Amino acid sequence: MEGYDIAIIGAGPAGTTLARLLGDKYRILLIDKRKLDKPYHSGDVNKCCGGLLAPDAQKMLARLGLGLPEQVLVGQQLFMVRTIDLHNAQERYYQRHYLNLDREKFDRWMVSLLPERVDRCFNHHFKSLERTGQGYILKLATQGQELTVNAKAVIGADGAGSRVRTACFPDIPSPKRYIAIQEWFQVPEELPYLSAVFDEEITDFYAWTISKDNYLLIGAALNPGQQAGAKFRLLKDKLRAYGFEFGEPVKKEGAIILRPQRVKDIYPGRDKIALIGEAAGWISPSSAEGISYAVNSAYLLAKSLDHDFNNFLHYYYEYTAPMRRNILIKNLKSPFMYNRTLRGLVMKTGLQSLELYRM
Ligand SMILES: Cc1cc2nc3c(=O)[nH]c(=O)nc-3n(C[C@H](O)[C@H](O)[C@H](O)COP(=O)(O)OP(=O)(O)OC[C@H]3O[C@@H](n4cnc5c(N)ncnc54)[C@H](O)[C@@H]3O)c2cc1C
Repeated sequence: MEGYDIAIIGAGPAGTTLARLLGDKYRILLIDKRKLDKPYHSGDVNKCCGGLLAPDAQKMLARLGLGLPEQVLVGQQLFMVRTIDLHNAQERYYQRHYLNLDREKFDRWMVSLLPERVDRCFNHHFKSLERTGQGYILKLATQGQELTVNAKAVIGADGAGSRVRTACFPDIPSPKRYIAIQEWFQVPEELPYLSAVFDEEITDFYAWTISKDNYLLIGAALNPGQQAGAKFRLLKDKLRAYGFEFGEPVKKEGAIILRPQRVKDIYPGRDKIALIGEAAGWISPSSAEGISYAVNSAYLLAKSLDHDFNNFLHYYYEYTAPMRRNILIKNLKSPFMYNRTLRGLVMKTGLQSLELYRM
């Protein structure tokens, strides 16, 4: 394969945003292990996600001049969060506006926006890379076959388990990692809210329920290790005891999810290899919402590459300063959500909570 200016690994929201913004300016190759150019079949690799587009992500799309097509939406659109503190036996409702997405369709819609000039190499895994005089040689693999590609700059947009990050920067520690387990249950009725469930016996992060058409998704970000499965079963037992109704799962999925607790957990990259989206550590440490950070970091990298290809990492670091401040502030506010006593006090006040009218 010929040489590229930029090879982007990962066609999630970060990688597709970057490729879309720079596709007419540079020779770009977008690589993903998913078969994003073929119709989706159940059993294909997909992105495990709650698929809620939070207000910050909606704002990012608006800033980029994008509206969402109807076909990527699913089920009811959600206007509130039911916050359940199982430990303190308290609950409150809060107003928040989410768009409820079919995440696979959302990612494919982002791919459909790519300029023609962007070359795509789907159904290929990135394996490793080597430095050369002019840039890098990337090794990709598909069904036992290897392929090499040359590029002057490499962008890791390959998500929480980023191979680009571990292969290129083994000296840089990862942000705190959680195992997200999510199961889908067929249910007769949709729940008109996102539940955020807190219980220190299950996790020091949080668990959730989300309705999508006839499915209830139950998920949790759990500390990795052998206990994760048992903690997830405990969550389901506790939710049933609390009044949630669901039977046996029809689908089970899992993924790594990151929680950047210090600003230095976020790593922009070096030597013409940049990281964007969750690969860099960009994700909310309080809500685990990552789509807005993925799109924002991609936009800021696009701006940096556009400004000065030879020195883009300098500008990327500079332009992302407000994002680092945002992560810092979220971490400072976190104890009000994640410290049992403080959370109990906040919920007790009922501040900014919604009173439900029941007749
Ligand atoms: C269970 C769960 C629920 C979540 N719910 C929400 C939510 O409701 N709202 C929200 O905003 N965020 C949510 N997040 C976080 C959000 O999904 C991510 O932060 C966001 O998708 C990051 O975007 P990205 O483009 O950086 O990476 P990703 O979306 O992870 O995309 C990475 C891409 O890289 C590809 N890839 C990975 N490795 C390789 C490789 N070696 N070779 C080739 N391709 C590769 C993958 O196939 C994928 O397409 C959730 C995360 C989890 C785990």
